[in-house]
Order: sequence, then structure tokens, then C-alpha cells
Amino acid sequence: MSVHIPQPVAPMIPRTLFTADHDAFRATARRFFETEMAPHLERFEEQQHIDRNLWNKAGELGLLCATMPEQYGGSGVDRLYSMILLEEQARVGDSASGFSLHSDIVANYINNFGNEAQKQQWLPKMATGECVTAIAMTEPGTGSDLQGIRTTAVADGDDYILNGSKIFITNGYLCDMLFFDNVRVPKSNLLGMEGMGFIMLMKELAWERMLIAIICASGCEAVLASTVEYVKQRKAFGKTIASFQNTRFKLAELRSETQIARVYVDRCMELVLKEELSPEAACAAKYWVSDLMSRVVDECVQLHGGYGFMLEYPVARAYIDTRANRIYGGTNEIMKELISRSI
Ligand SMILES: Cc1cc2nc3c(=O)[nH]c(=O)nc-3n(C[C@H](O)[C@H](O)[C@H](O)COP(=O)(O)OP(=O)(O)OC[C@H]3O[C@@H](n4cnc5c(N)ncnc54)[C@H](O)[C@@H]3O)c2cc1C
Repeated sequence: MSVHIPQPVAPMIPRTLFTADHDAFRATARRFFETEMAPHLERFEEQQHIDRNLWNKAGELGLLCATMPEQYGGSGVDRLYSMILLEEQARVGDSASGFSLHSDIVANYINNFGNEAQKQQWLPKMATGECVTAIAMTEPGTGSDLQGIRTTAVADGDDYILNGSKIFITNGYLCDMLFFDNVRVPKSNLLGMEGMGFIMLMKELAWERMLIAIICASGCEAVLASTVEYVKQRKAFGKTIASFQNTRFKLAELRSETQIARVYVDRCMELVLKEELSPEAACAAKYWVSDLMSRVVDECVQLHGGYGFMLEYPVARAYIDTRANRIYGGTNEIMKELISRSI
């Protein structure tokens, strides 16, 4: 089973990032999201998570942890593969699957800071989908100000004893809040060196911010495509909505801004591949493109009229889903704070 996905609006400036191998991977990812995700999004929303076996299916297709080294179950490919996966996810309006957090954030921590035994233990299982991972930083009392976290890990023999609570944890399946009540964790599970967590967190921040910019750039394109399709068939006063000058001008603005976002994000990705992307450029991408997506979606809801408020329409779903992009991954205010420090 698959659902109808509107044709994208043609780009004004052709993209130059991808090779034939990337395109082949995109075809696999597209099929997966069109057939396994898109038709079931409503059900996933009701049950509040995707079906567990989809992690295994994604693993079988090589869609998880693709950038990890081959000896740990990955494909050793570049980060454009991660970008493609996110773009295809955004194209079908899927905000339910947390594959990217697992493959592009958690796996990197283990690969960058884990010892050989830890990499062997976790990465291959993550690549097959046997193991689903999350990263739990935010707590009920603190999010932006991570230095204020209260959870403690107290050494006790060969273990740490964890106490505290976490909230809003993507992939923290079926948990609204994660409680640690004297949870015993072997010291052998410590990633990197004790007391260095904050410094380790910094290493991949630019990339993590790009993940949100990528989702939002593609999200803008997807919402624009479905809106163009809608206004071309909906009629008022004997004409299509698309024929009104207001609609044409609005679409011209949204197409232009979406294209500008696309060029900036693609250029940032060129720098990601060379490991030259500055933290402030990534912060700018995260805040500007997520703000743009909120604006684009809002205008597109308006062009749908009352139907834009009905969850059967992708634009209404996008209106709800996109709001979180301005909050997680560091709020957009924190992005501006960080950019301002580099001036
Ligand atoms: C859908 C979703 C998924 C998430 N997934 C995860 C996850 O997987 N793992 C995880 O650890 N967390 C996750 N989070 C949490 C997210 O990272 C935090 O919500 C976010 O960092 C903001 O923290 P907070 O909610 O405590 O807001 P606060 O820090 O309380 O912020 C409230 C407001 O104050 C503003 N503010 C705070 N400090 C400043 C400042 N210095 N200057 C100006 N304004 C400021 C903020 O921008 C915001 O507008 C997720 C959140 C959501 C909504």
C-alpha cells in the first residue's frame, strides 16, 4: 500500500550534491517511507510510536547507521546519506520515526568516544535495528541550561548508581518520563572519560543542528508541493484558488524563500563533508530554516482555508509537527545567543 505524494515544485537552482550511488540509496529510502510509513502515520500517532518491527526493516535495508564503519555494521558512507534519509522522511510528512537521532547522534557518540568493546557491543545491533537508542539530556527542571541537570551518577564499586529523571526523550518509547531510582549501571558502560560529558557533547553539535535544518528545508518543499496541488484544484468564484493574484504572489514568495533555504543548507552540507562547518553557520541554519518552515506552513494552511485546519490534510499535520523544530536541538533563542557570541 502507498499513498499519494505530490510532485515537488521544480527547483530554481539545480542541486549538485549527489552521485548515482546517492540516488540509488534515495530510491530505497523513498520506497520505504512511501510504503512502510506514510500509509500508517495516523495509526502511529494513535499508538504514540511507530511499529517496533520497522526498525528491523529499516536495518535490513541499510537505512540505519549507514555512516558508521563497515566493521561495526554500517556502510561507511558519507553524511549525504543521512541527509537523503531525512529528506525522504520529511517528504512524506513523517515526524514519528526517530531514526536520525539513533543513527546520526547516538551512534556518533559511541563511535567517537566508545572503546572497542563498546563499539562491538552496540553499533552492529543499532545498525540492524535490534537495539533502539535515545539520548536523555533534558530533565523536568532544565532543558536549555544543561549545566543545571540534577541526575547523579555516584560511583559504587564497579558500578554507578543513577538517580534522577528525564523528559521529552525521543525514542524513549512508551515513556513520558524516564525515572532513575537507584539504577545500577556497570562502569564498563561509561562512554569516554568521567566528567568529560559536556566536552564530548560539543563535538557533533554543528551536525546535530544541521539535521533539523535538513528536515525543515525538505519539509518546506513538501508542504509547498501539496499546497500547489491543492490550490490548483480547489475553486472559488468560478476560478481555481491558484488563479488569484494573492495566491500566486504568496506561492512565489514561499517558493523563493524555500529555494534560498535549500541553497544555504546544501552549501552547509558541502562544508559538513569537509568537516569545515562552523558552529555559528549551523546554528543559523537550524534557527532560520525552522522559523521559515513555521512561516511556510502557516501561509499554506491559510491557502487551504478551513481544510487547512483538518488533520486529514498534510498541511494541518505539518502545522502541529513543525513547531517542535524551533524548540528541540537547542531552542532558536539559544541558537541566536550562540551566534551572537561569535560576532
Ligand atoms: C518533540 C521533542 C523531542 C525532544 N527530544 C529530546 C531528546 O531526545 N533528548 C533530550 O534530551 N531532549 C529532548 N527534547 C527536549 C528539548 O531539547 C528541550 O525542550 C529544549 O532544549 C528546551 O528546553 P526546555 O523545554 O527546558 O525549555 P527552557 O529551557 O525552560 O526554555 C523556555 C524558553 O526560554 C527560552 N530561554 C532559555 N534560556 C534562554 C536564554 N539564555 N536566552 C534567551 N531565551 C532563553 C527558551 O528559548 C524557551 O523559549 C525534546 C523536546 C521536544 C519538544
